[in-house]
Amino acid sequence: MKDIRWNTFWFFLIQLCLYLFIYKIISGEIALIILCGSLIIYILINAIWMHKLNTWLSKPLIEELPQGTGGWESIFSKIYQDVRTRRKSKKNLATTIDQFILASDALLDGVIVINESNEIAWANKRAKTMFGVDSIKDKTQPIQYIFRNTEFTAYLDAEEYDQPIHIKTKNIIEDIEIRIISFGKLQKLIIGKDISVIIKNESIRKEFVSNFSHELKTPLTVITGFIETLDASLITDKPTKQIFNLMMEQSTRMKRLIDDLLLLSNVESSLIKNRSEEINSKKLFEKIKKNIKLVDKERHKIIYKINYQFNIYGSKQEIESAFTNLITNAIRYTPDDKMIYINWNVINHTPIFEVIDLGIGIEKKHINRITERFYRVDDHRSRSTGGTGLGLSIVKNIMIKHQGELNVLSEPNKGSTFKLIFPSDRLIKIDK
Ligand code: ADP
Repeated sequence: MKDIRWNTFWFFLIQLCLYLFIYKIISGEIALIILCGSLIIYILINAIWMHKLNTWLSKPLIEELPQGTGGWESIFSKIYQDVRTRRKSKKNLATTIDQFILASDALLDGVIVINESNEIAWANKRAKTMFGVDSIKDKTQPIQYIFRNTEFTAYLDAEEYDQPIHIKTKNIIEDIEIRIISFGKLQKLIIGKDISVIIKNESIRKEFVSNFSHELKTPLTVITGFIETLDASLITDKPTKQIFNLMMEQSTRMKRLIDDLLLLSNVESSLIKNRSEEINSKKLFEKIKKNIKLVDKERHKIIYKINYQFNIYGSKQEIESAFTNLITNAIRYTPDDKMIYINWNVINHTPIFEVIDLGIGIEKKHINRITERFYRVDDHRSRSTGGTGLGLSIVKNIMIKHQGELNVLSEPNKGSTFKLIFPSDRLIKIDK
């Protein structure tokens, strides 16, 4: 009989019967002594087993678990089963964790888990070479103290993780792309991807384009120089004149293409460039107006709304090139006699340059792609108006280097708005 309740019941029943029997046959006193004696023995046996259980609980080794007798046998047997099951599931869990750690260490990406206070909870092996995080030593340390990088800290604090960021580090892996994913209760997963090879290939490509353009520029300058010195008016033969004009047109186009390629590789290059010159708005727009007048030849009504009460920090040459590029595009893609608006103002401490045209506009599906190199919506129109397909790519890169952005809004047959938004720390207010 293993049920403790029945055991106890039978014990007391037997004790009662024994007491009554001795009481009747011998005497009440003897019956009471025997009853008390057996109760004391009963309590002592239970106390011994309780003591054994208590001793075992302080060092619960399954091999040393007592067997027990009576009701205690059932209790110890249940404890034995429970410990065995737990041991098994603990073993399974440990195997799973070991496998997970092995797999995560084999990953080529650096992975770090941080808690709500940005303290390191876990990291894989690769995190050491990427972030300099030691999975054991740096546990519970704030990630910003171990991986010291202002761009990363700003990215972490901003809590806008839609886009990854590219960071140059001083660790073994120099170029990493970092992505942060929030999960669970305010925990975050930081994933670092090694992009050193991509960056290296990209810089080789840029260097090649830059060198190639440089090499082409010299012979081309000589050829265009000769063509320009030839006096077209002396050529009377019609087919020869046609050939001459075509040569002139194509060499000019090639020159423009090489100039744009050189400008683009110059902007993209990681060479340190001064982008903190004070650009005087008045001087800048006087120059732009003069140049645009020559380009447009009064074909459009160009309205300038310029606020001269502020200047910006930037590269003079690049900013002039970006602004001029957007205005010449508006001229090229807007039918004659239509209006073009050019605005330069500060809105909420943000300098904004805006070109609004009432031209042919751009279909929505092309808008995301027009800043790609050589992407043109209408190839023929672009080429016939002297386009190289690089203009917007140059503008976009100039804005990236100035920590600003290029925004495009457009509707076919209605017109387009190109906006260049500069960060507020590039703003210089002029005291009146
Ligand atoms: P392109 O030399 O061909 O003009 P860009 O890089 O300057 O090269 O522009 C890319 C493409 O974007 C153009 O080919 C044109 O289709 C479109 N585009 C640029 N600006 C405008 C505009 N203001 N209106 C309509 N389409 C435009």
